[in-house]
Amino acid sequence: MSGAGRFAPSPSADLHIGNLRTAVLAWLFARSTGRRFLIRVEDLDDRTHDDVAHRQLADLAAIGITWDAEPQWQSAHPDRYAAVVDDLAARGLVYECYCSRKDILAAPRAPHAPEGAYPGTCRGLSEQQRAQRRASRPPALRLRSDTSEYTVTDLLHGTYTGVVDDFVLRRGDGVPAYNLAVVVDDAHSGVDQVVRGDDLLSSSPRQAYLAELLGYRQPVYAHVPLALNADGKRLAKRDGAVTLAELGVERAFSLISTSLGWPSADLTELLDRFDPTTLPRQPWTYQPV
Ligand code: GLU
Repeated sequence: MSGAGRFAPSPSADLHIGNLRTAVLAWLFARSTGRRFLIRVEDLDDRTHDDVAHRQLADLAAIGITWDAEPQWQSAHPDRYAAVVDDLAARGLVYECYCSRKDILAAPRAPHAPEGAYPGTCRGLSEQQRAQRRASRPPALRLRSDTSEYTVTDLLHGTYTGVVDDFVLRRGDGVPAYNLAVVVDDAHSGVDQVVRGDDLLSSSPRQAYLAELLGYRQPVYAHVPLALNADGKRLAKRDGAVTLAELGVERAFSLISTSLGWPSADLTELLDRFDPTTLPRQPWTYQPV
């Protein structure tokens, strides 16, 4: 089986021009390297927005993006994630955590502990302590990691080393955590190229570390710059004139291709000219007209 790239939107809102641009880039990276292209609807968190997911798929198709298999809905296969958590648990690599977000913020941490890393509060609890705490709060499950950092290689960022803590595998409400689901699904569908917004660069060491633990092949990463609004903040739907419905396909496509440095009318033409080495490395500031 040849490798694959993918776009994996969360169906929380309609795609805006920045999301569409990332999707175009993911498609270009995949197609220009002879890969298949897949779509995954990341609806574990938000299963109520099937209508949004379908509009996202329609918008992707409208700008010319093609995919090679039926889109996968994460909520359709909870057993896949449960099996991996069970496997890690059998290897002694999972523990229950009873901390709230507030507990984690308030917990004492080592002087050089990285910002946002789980301080390990529940890592060493005895069975008796666990039994007591379980009564008050449904536990999340965390990975017992044996490193504090991990290095990935990114086509745009080069070598990137980032934090790996005992991150959550399954939330207290039973929902598989984002980092687990991404790694399991990418491996399951043969994805070996991950192109996405660079807000997720700092998650990639955790994901790559987990992939290694599970014996999966490491994907190639390319974290692409995000789109910003006129105030230099991350572009959002509320900025207005940002969705395909608001902009129209032609205008949206022209904005995207111009932002990549190759003004063009269609995606096939863009593919002919695609050269990742000349991609803008700075965020793209979107100015509505
Ligand atoms: N679902 C995530 C998002 O919409 C992307 C996950 C990924 O590409 O790994 O931000």
